[in-house]
Amino acid sequence: MINFNYTKATSLKGALDAIGKDPNARFIAGGTNLVDLMKRGVMTPQRVIDITGLPLKGIQVHKGGLRIGALALNSEVAEHPIVKAQYPLLAEALKAGASAQLRNMATVGGNLMQRTRCPYFYDTALPCNKRQPGSGCSALQGYNRMHAIFGTSEKCIAVHPSDMAVGLAALDAMVLVQGPRGERRIPIGDFHRLPGDTPQIDNNLQRTEIITGVELKANNFGEQRVRYLKVRDRASYAFALVSVAAVVPLDGNGRIRNARIAMGGVAHKPWRLKPTEVLLEGKAPSEELFYTAVRASLKDARTYGHNDFKIPMAESALMDTLLSLTTQNQQR
Ligand SMILES: Cc1cc2nc3c(=O)[nH]c(=O)nc-3n(C[C@H](O)[C@H](O)[C@H](O)COP(=O)(O)OP(=O)(O)OC[C@H]3O[C@@H](n4cnc5c(N)ncnc54)[C@H](O)[C@@H]3O)c2cc1C
Ligand code: SF4
Repeated sequence: MINFNYTKATSLKGALDAIGKDPNARFIAGGTNLVDLMKRGVMTPQRVIDITGLPLKGIQVHKGGLRIGALALNSEVAEHPIVKAQYPLLAEALKAGASAQLRNMATVGGNLMQRTRCPYFYDTALPCNKRQPGSGCSALQGYNRMHAIFGTSEKCIAVHPSDMAVGLAALDAMVLVQGPRGERRIPIGDFHRLPGDTPQIDNNLQRTEIITGVELKANNFGEQRVRYLKVRDRASYAFALVSVAAVVPLDGNGRIRNARIAMGGVAHKPWRLKPTEVLLEGKAPSEELFYTAVRASLKDARTYGHNDFKIPMAESALMDTLLSLTTQNQQR
């Protein structure tokens, strides 16, 4: 691990000034990802700016929805009474991530910003365009079992590892950001990027900006036809092979209205299944409809050998989720 300087920010302005002054500085919150990356020499900031003292821990009702501070711990959010009652999808997604100990350290902002778990990204002896642009992608011809099937490029086929972000994508959350030019609101779907030619850039946050929180809209799916399904190698402490976050409300006539479906473990960002959502709109649930709607999204998938299994796995996970959410007596 390299030597580095440490600064503790005592105000938002102080944190922004400190990051603005030093191009080699990085914020640190729970440290559960950044410290690992620093120990392995994958990230080598000359200065870490500790933001844990900033007043960004609150979880408050805001305009009928919910505003969650960037420093709220994953465990606190998952157990918050309003989140459990009104946004159980988010609680489920958070609880599916990491372990209880990690969730007690990990923050909302850090979770959104965590970097890929591609093993070649962590191995500084091997080429990786994300770690060292232009060096090549070891995963393309390598062991790519955990890798993406949607939105990949010739430069990178990594996935974003967050469970929470997949839940937020299905809830149409907004990421709140503060920078030298003031505040910005970034829809969660526009926050993370696809790798394209610049896989070293994970998201659209500028280096001199900080995430201050996320905002959830008021929702009227109180009866909660929502589910987060994570398929993984072990029942806990494992990243998703594929995951599904789904909100599938039914109207008074039993027809699907405004379904929102996102997948994790399949792309460089939470992957919304818009073709599926469009085909479901206004229709009565049926196995045949679900199959057609799921296939409409999966036809865009591309696999790389070791991850060929992800297409049938994604299909099963989606079918299981849609069927379980729309059976007549579905209850939480
Ligand atoms: C063994 C293990 C298993 C895990 N399993 C899962 C899993 O199954 N699912 C899952 O979703 N996650 C999993 N995680 C990842 C874990 O959720 C993340 O490490 C954690 O959420 C990161 O939060 P943090 O506060 O510790 O971030 P840090 O490590 O402090 O920071 C991570 C990055 O975010 C930046 N950052 C932090 N806060 C802000 C902010 N407010 N504004 C701008 N930038 C910021 C930092 O500069 C840094 O680059 C696992 C981690 C480990 C170690
Ligand atoms: S998939 Fe992306 S992160 Fe993994 S080796 Fe290739 S470029 Fe690096």
